[in-house]
Amino acid sequence: MEEAELKQQLLTLSRILYKEGFLDSFGHISVRIPGKDYYYITRGEPSGKGDFDARDLVRVDFKGNRLEGQGRPPVEAIIHTVLHRSREDAGCIVHVHPYYCILLTVAGIKFMPVTLQAATFGHTLPVYDVADLVITEEEGEAMARNMGKARAILLRGHGIVTLGATIEEAFYNTYHLEESARFLVDAHRLGPVTPLNDQEVQKRLNYIRSRPAGVNPFAKVWAYHEFKTR
Ligand SMILES: [Zn+2]
Repeated sequence: MEEAELKQQLLTLSRILYKEGFLDSFGHISVRIPGKDYYYITRGEPSGKGDFDARDLVRVDFKGNRLEGQGRPPVEAIIHTVLHRSREDAGCIVHVHPYYCILLTVAGIKFMPVTLQAATFGHTLPVYDVADLVITEEEGEAMARNMGKARAILLRGHGIVTLGATIEEAFYNTYHLEESARFLVDAHRLGPVTPLNDQEVQKRLNYIRSRPAGVNPFAKVWAYHEFKTR
């Protein structure tokens, strides 16, 4: 995908996440441009977020410097800077503060996959055990080290960071992480929880990886939610 198309798709992601209640007063998203050493991120100033256009995107390099744009990068832009420069598989990064994901971290419930969608994350998820904003280079590096190769990380008492090779995949991971957290919290209320076993998780991961780009679960979830925003 070309740079202009990626920027456009990031704006669509902003609209979808706004409509679904993920992006509210806070939260930000970014896309890395393949072959370049910069990324685009939604600006940090107070805004509606559901009607962003290209002027609301800020271009930032891998040192965190603003290269272009009228706005300023969000205060936690280091999350994106560190992951874009260190993770080949991070084409798109989402940082939001969804209710059930935060609830997991404050109720001491360990993430485990209880649905097929949740199995996308594997058997468990890392937790960044510092209830504070991630602002400095040191904090960003510490969070990234905690995250390792995972597709997502829970930030205790704060929110989540999810990523994907594509914008569609990052949305899928964001949407289904919150859904998975909700299933898990409610299952805990009802009684003993049965997670998917090793074989079931592996089968799900193999299935997702084997699907062609246009019809994989990421594309399907994207198409459904994109239509809902019209
Ligand atoms: Zn935050």
